[in-house]
Amino acid sequence: PADKSAKTPGLLGRLIGRSGRDEPRRVLDDDMLEQLEELLIASDMGVDTALRVTSNMAEGRLGKRLSSREIKELLAQEVARVMDHVAKPMPIYEKRPQVVLVVGVNGSGKTTTIGKLASQFKAAGKSVVIAAGDTFRAAAVEQLQVWGTRAGVPVLTAPEGSDPASLAFDAMTKAEEDGADLLMIDTAGRLQNRADLMEELAKIVRVIRKKDPSAPHNTLLVLDATTGQNALSQVDTFQKLADVSGLVMTKLDGTAKGGVLVALADKFGLPIHAIGVGEQIDDLAPFDPEEFAAALTG
Ligand code: GDP
Repeated sequence: PADKSAKTPGLLGRLIGRSGRDEPRRVLDDDMLEQLEELLIASDMGVDTALRVTSNMAEGRLGKRLSSREIKELLAQEVARVMDHVAKPMPIYEKRPQVVLVVGVNGSGKTTTIGKLASQFKAAGKSVVIAAGDTFRAAAVEQLQVWGTRAGVPVLTAPEGSDPASLAFDAMTKAEEDGADLLMIDTAGRLQNRADLMEELAKIVRVIRKKDPSAPHNTLLVLDATTGQNALSQVDTFQKLADVSGLVMTKLDGTAKGGVLVALADKFGLPIHAIGVGEQIDDLAPFDPEEFAAALTG
């Protein structure tokens, strides 16, 4: 995984100098813009997005003298601008149960995110049911049960290796019977065999739709910030496997600053519903473009 984003603050600091009383003022010229562009690319933002950000910075300001602080603020402002339109919490519908399918590669943080979301929804007065749809990974099922207990939410499971679609069907029935507001369905994330995974997800969706043609109402893709540029190909892949409606990026509490989120916002425009900022139940935050951009640009 190419996580170069961790170096961003240092690099930016070196490029534009420390902020302070005697900070130098530098001319925003082509050379400076090129260096900024390289920094942004190194932060996993991708070439196209980096170019857009720097050219927006330059607009009407080329040749102006700016302090380090001004350059940083300008940079953060332009990064935030790329992301403003994607910062949206997961929509809640009248539909009962609202079916939330959660997809993503194994290890991305699906289980953890489902637990955190379930806890948040519950705190907001919603009744939630979770289905442990990754029936082939006993450890994933156990983890989800632990999260269910923490969140105070029932977790429906099926015997190891059984058909996830039939669990999804049973979960729909149970959620309907219980009058649950939300049904969150975990899924497998074995990308090694895409054809199988595609078949499995398609079957889950087919079965859910037998119960409710409008379901799933949300398909959340969970991405791991530490995988850097890989997130782009994961979005590509999962969009082909499922009708992704929104993203959650996890592990933004570590060294990874998630520069790839800017590229994702720019390229796909999918809503970013929340970010994972730790391993505890409350470590899920709304996505805030300004805060994110400030952290990214250091
Ligand atoms: P899954 O395989 O996609 O279900 O992934 P898990 O939910 O099991 O998460 C994989 C690992 O990442 C676990 O050790 C989690 O504690 C950890 N993890 C998940 N989200 C976050 C996060 O936002 N921050 C940190 N630091 N760790 C996380």
